[in-house]
Amino acid sequence: MSLFVGLDIGGTKFMVASADQNGNIIERTRADNTFNLKSDLALLNQMITDVSHGEEILGIGAAIGGPLVWEQGIVSPLHQPTWNNIPLKHIMEDQWKCPFFVDVDTNVAVLGEYYSSKITASKLLYITLSTGMGGGFLIDGKVYRGLNGTHPEIGHQSIPYHCVNPDAIQCECGAKDCLEALISGNGIRRIYGKPAEELSSAEWEEVAYNFGQGLRNLAAILTPDIIRIGGGIAIGGGETFVQNAASVMRENLKIVPPPEVSLSHLGYDTALYGAIGIAIHGLND
Ligand SMILES: [Zn+2]
Repeated sequence: MSLFVGLDIGGTKFMVASADQNGNIIERTRADNTFNLKSDLALLNQMITDVSHGEEILGIGAAIGGPLVWEQGIVSPLHQPTWNNIPLKHIMEDQWKCPFFVDVDTNVAVLGEYYSSKITASKLLYITLSTGMGGGFLIDGKVYRGLNGTHPEIGHQSIPYHCVNPDAIQCECGAKDCLEALISGNGIRRIYGKPAEELSSAEWEEVAYNFGQGLRNLAAILTPDIIRIGGGIAIGGGETFVQNAASVMRENLKIVPPPEVSLSHLGYDTALYGAIGIAIHGLND
């Protein structure tokens, strides 16, 4: 039996799955990464072997942190410092003798949402809210790419925020007032002095308010049909948090129709499903 393989190459863990031509997962495995390039690559290859059992692999797709050059498959994920300018496409195609596609995790995640939910809406925005914040935008099933193929950074916008501890707002990009600095896992730790799972309901409400203002900007500028939200912080806050943010968006969005906003039903697997999707369908420019 021929199969496809998806890789979710995260900053702390790897998930690998084999799938059939319809994207149904056959077998999956996960492991903590080793924080060393050589052993990380050996581990990924072993995981691919484990889920494919010597069957023919027709394509491999991968999700990884940026920055990267997706056409050439050269990756330098920010949170894996030993991975610097790695020609992953070349390495994997040489090893596995099949096409290999890689893109920024949030671009891959929006494709995961698209393929696995069989969404027919023409404009789909996926937002991941975890340690950091990012998003991917699809138009008619194709990833929207910015200037020179760059990935739009939706977390680095400013909003009219509520914050009990404004002196602690500091974005990792260097700016003082980014949305990501207010609502990401790292931002929450800086502002509230604790992880998201320990936030009080009043603090969750403040985070939802700020997130809603960000959603309002995105809805006004992109006018998507659907916004799907995933990532650890969103999953932790659950549908209540997401719908509180959506209410703030709707209250402040006066001029365009509000998109449907919901929590992704794929949990932590959005990028993995997307990686399988690009293994099967490839990537567009
Ligand atoms: Zn920023």
